[in-house]
Amino acid sequence: MNLKTTFFERALFLSWYCSKADCAFCYMSTQKNLIRNPRRARRSFASIFAEAIISEACGWQIEFLSGGYDSFSMDELVFIAKTIREITGKKQWLNIGVLSKEELSLLKPYTEGVVGAVECINPVIRRTVCPSKPLSEILSCFSACDELGLKKGVTIIIGLGETLKDFERLEDFIRVNRITRVTFYSLNPHRGTPFKYSPPIQYYEEWVKKTRRAFPNLWITAGAWHDKTHYYSRLLRAGADNITKFPAIKLFGSRIAQEVEKQVSLGGRNFRGTLTRLPNINWDEEVDKLGVGGEVKQEIKLKLRAYLQRMKQG
Ligand code: SF4
Repeated sequence: MNLKTTFFERALFLSWYCSKADCAFCYMSTQKNLIRNPRRARRSFASIFAEAIISEACGWQIEFLSGGYDSFSMDELVFIAKTIREITGKKQWLNIGVLSKEELSLLKPYTEGVVGAVECINPVIRRTVCPSKPLSEILSCFSACDELGLKKGVTIIIGLGETLKDFERLEDFIRVNRITRVTFYSLNPHRGTPFKYSPPIQYYEEWVKKTRRAFPNLWITAGAWHDKTHYYSRLLRAGADNITKFPAIKLFGSRIAQEVEKQVSLGGRNFRGTLTRLPNINWDEEVDKLGVGGEVKQEIKLKLRAYLQRMKQG
């Protein structure tokens, strides 16, 4: 029997800064007073590219380029998107906030689509938990995507106070906006936020099941925190295509990483890529192929060594 393939998807974070920093569930909302300078809270190009090289070599898909608002200039974002495309050979998805048509046009050659951070589909709860990310702005960004021929996706966090009665709203939203991918997360309560509990797996799973039943061809990704790796098999059986959220570099090769691979098998899938065996390749050669300057190449090599060292400790 040919098993369906499942990938691990890794969100590639560009920064730790967010000028909104008021989504009630988000870690950033607890850090706003500590991170005052957006330029200092961003990652170096070398660190971002080293992570992309590792992701590509390990067979992980880049879930999207992700980051808070206002950390990079548009020229810098274009440079990042272009280089990630070069590393992965693929256009990538963006989850870096609402972008104008002009901004999207600049990123378009390297971009497959845009993920809107809808997070909560219940409009009343959404207004409270995401006060500075009005849905209207995401919808305008989606209109610009339509004009430019870019695909559209959404992120949804389960456990913010919505109920299964809200599923119809999600179904409508996906149909009306012709969404081609949905990434689900279950709420991971951070200290300092008003949230204390993650939703039960049965409830989270039900959202994935309903979405799969309503949309047989939708690309569904489901995340589970590293203390909930046992969710993965259930989320895959519920209809998710791929998994995400596992801290793959930090826990590479660990017992927990082995458990994630096992969970994918238990979910009836063939896992593509690895979370446990370091690829035997010449990493410096991967860097030398890139069309970036010599100084950046040296920095990427140093970063790569640091990440690989950490991964070997698994
Ligand atoms: S916009 Fe994103 S990064 Fe900023 S507070 Fe909201 S969820 Fe967090």
